[in-house]
Amino acid sequence: MYDVTALGELLIDLTPYNSSQPGKVVFERNPGGAPANVLAGLTKLGKKTCFIGKVGDDQFGHYLKQVLLDTNICCEGLSFTKKANTTLAFVHLDEYGDRSFSFYRNPGADTKLTEDDINENIVAQTKIFHFGSLSLTNEPAATTTLKTVQLAKEQGKVVSYDPNLRALLWKNLEHAKKMIKEGLKYANIVKLSEEELEFITGKADLEKGTRQLVEQYNTELIFVTLGAEGCFYRKGESIGKFKSFKVIPVDTTGAGDGFFSGVLYKYLEKNKSIADLNIDDMEEIIVFGNAVGAIVTTRKGAILSMPCMEEVKKLMDNQN
Ligand code: ATP
Repeated sequence: MYDVTALGELLIDLTPYNSSQPGKVVFERNPGGAPANVLAGLTKLGKKTCFIGKVGDDQFGHYLKQVLLDTNICCEGLSFTKKANTTLAFVHLDEYGDRSFSFYRNPGADTKLTEDDINENIVAQTKIFHFGSLSLTNEPAATTTLKTVQLAKEQGKVVSYDPNLRALLWKNLEHAKKMIKEGLKYANIVKLSEEELEFITGKADLEKGTRQLVEQYNTELIFVTLGAEGCFYRKGESIGKFKSFKVIPVDTTGAGDGFFSGVLYKYLEKNKSIADLNIDDMEEIIVFGNAVGAIVTTRKGAILSMPCMEEVKKLMDNQN
């Protein structure tokens, strides 16, 4: 049995590392991809996870498989294709560690995932099924993703969803909105940024925007991540906000995914249905997620930056 199975992109983040000469930048190869990052965080904390996705039959793709194996993520659902290269994402960092991306995905191997690649046994054997919106940008991965999520839903799994908006990866913003909303139909738990909430609902106000998601999609649990400010949540009529921990960020890549892995870890530990979570549970879940997210910002990259339990406890103990 897996605690969490995630379906989606697995790619290389090329993160600025250094400069060999003024004006030149050296890029470092960091394994990433939001769904895989979430699994890496969960596995580092001791949960059993499995990845479903596709990479290119190239050096990057084989390197990524080895990274997942070394991280103890089950790769039973990972396949290779010769028809496209592994996606590369160049990360550009500003002086505060905040990012922008240039994607090399024309389209990449991750978008080639077909229904034949899906092993339904993996879905049947998982407690939580997790996915993101970037596997909805292109066919055949989009239809494959939605059919697999539907299967998970029919089997009564808890579905968690990270609707990332990377505007350049879609045909246009209308396409992005339509597909992101398709994903929302299946999700019990959603994590998004303030910008993504406004993009989807047209509302900048956190209370109103999240209320709209509950009314339109029956989303049971919503987290809006706020960078250093932590996170706002809504569970039905219950709302709240918890500040993050004080750290010195160097690269925010994977912070949202680290946060989500912390949240899912604590939720699994509660061993309750979402409906039964009380306000104290919610505080515990978010504070833990904030701690994981904060630690990830202090390191470059994502998959290899996820903290173990001792590191999370240390940060939480030091700032209490
Ligand atoms: P992504 O695009 O990677 O999915 P995101 O926009 O969802 O990221 P952020 O809001 O940047 O993610 O960060 C996620 C979480 O990480 C925050 O809710 C917070 O807990 C933690 N975090 C991020 N930046 C900082 C920071 N500068 N200091 C402390 N904690 C941070």
